[in-house]
Amino acid sequence: MKYLFILCLLLSTTAFSNTTIEEQVFVTGYTQKQFDTIKKKTELIIDHVFKSQFELYGPKGMTKYLDMIGVQYIKASAHKHIDNFNDYPDFSQITKALKELAKKYPKILSLTSVGKSQRGRELWVMKISDNVDADELEPEFKYISSMHGDEITGRELMVELIEYLAKNYNKDSRVTKLINSTEIYIMPSMNPDGSESRRRSNANYKDLNRDFPDWMRGDTNRTNSRQIETVSVMNWQKTRNFALSANFHGGAVVVNYPWDTTKTRHPFDRLVKSFSKQYADLNPAMRSSTEFSGGITNGADWYELNGGMQDWSYYWHNDLQVTVELSDRKWPRYSQIKGFWDDNKESLLKYMELIHQGHGIKLKNSNAVGTVKVLQHLTNGRTKDLGSYGFTNGEFYKVLETGNYTFVVNSAGVESRAEFMVDDRVAPKYIKL
Ligand SMILES: [Zn+2]
Repeated sequence: MKYLFILCLLLSTTAFSNTTIEEQVFVTGYTQKQFDTIKKKTELIIDHVFKSQFELYGPKGMTKYLDMIGVQYIKASAHKHIDNFNDYPDFSQITKALKELAKKYPKILSLTSVGKSQRGRELWVMKISDNVDADELEPEFKYISSMHGDEITGRELMVELIEYLAKNYNKDSRVTKLINSTEIYIMPSMNPDGSESRRRSNANYKDLNRDFPDWMRGDTNRTNSRQIETVSVMNWQKTRNFALSANFHGGAVVVNYPWDTTKTRHPFDRLVKSFSKQYADLNPAMRSSTEFSGGITNGADWYELNGGMQDWSYYWHNDLQVTVELSDRKWPRYSQIKGFWDDNKESLLKYMELIHQGHGIKLKNSNAVGTVKVLQHLTNGRTKDLGSYGFTNGEFYKVLETGNYTFVVNSAGVESRAEFMVDDRVAPKYIKL
């Protein structure tokens, strides 16, 4: 009777937009049929699926439900990820470190906040570029880390990366070139409340990587009834022209590329796979992965995920994004961070440089809106239509495979064309129309 009640409760509380995380387990024994049954429960969140285990998050009653359907699990408190918390910097120390860096390198670093978390912590973003206070005609790149608060490795690597770039500006020619030709934005912590509490969810017990609009479930790109951290990122994205990005997680070691929400291939599947491969090839643990061939995976091929940031980013904003899982342990020993930095440094630099494998246009009117049709000229003389994309702020930039292209630009009833070649040189490439 009691179980029947719980079953009814779980069935009746179907919520597509997001899920409260009050219980979390590590499922260790299950059949494919049980997995499929769990997958149908939209209020339960599946993460990091491996051959014989996966993580499961959900509302109160979840573990009773698992007992009822007979799967084996261990409570997350007994989970291998949870150990050794205390030697990490806390939010105020991260804030202090970012402020000090911005003060020390004012010509190339600018620290702003794009909003506040549920508990009032700033969502810090460091912009890194030459003439950092100007909005120059350069492609816009971003890294976001730790939207899952207990996946901490990326936050530390982001602070490390900011410092590395700043220190090496005008010393190392590769770093200097990158900073001179790119507008880089880095958000080390999208979920500071979660990290302070050492947990996945935000302060409202919501999973931010299930909280973004998802076209497959019929959402529109609106901020209504979403978490404050999600809304802040959505509003920030609208003000920029990001063309390439990555977001960092932990609990596995792999580059996960879109789509997550459907097994249909991404329209730029070959491109995003190649970018993912270039990240993974420079990371020793990824390139030698025994779990994932070549250290990369298509998102939905691994496990389907709805309401994720990665798919939202490209679908609505033409901002190609991958999800990088940095460490098997979500919260490794702090002394290991240096090793993760060494393993990811080259990948992080390379992936930023990849934004230059693309092309842009700039209209005289900086308020112009319109569309760009992308035509690729193939070597056999044919032309391939790669789709149409909206733009705002008189500016459009798209990462592409190397080759020859035409942009057919429509704005205010006027059509213009830009013809160009895409290569991988690190330099801003725009045609002014
Ligand atoms: Zn995660």
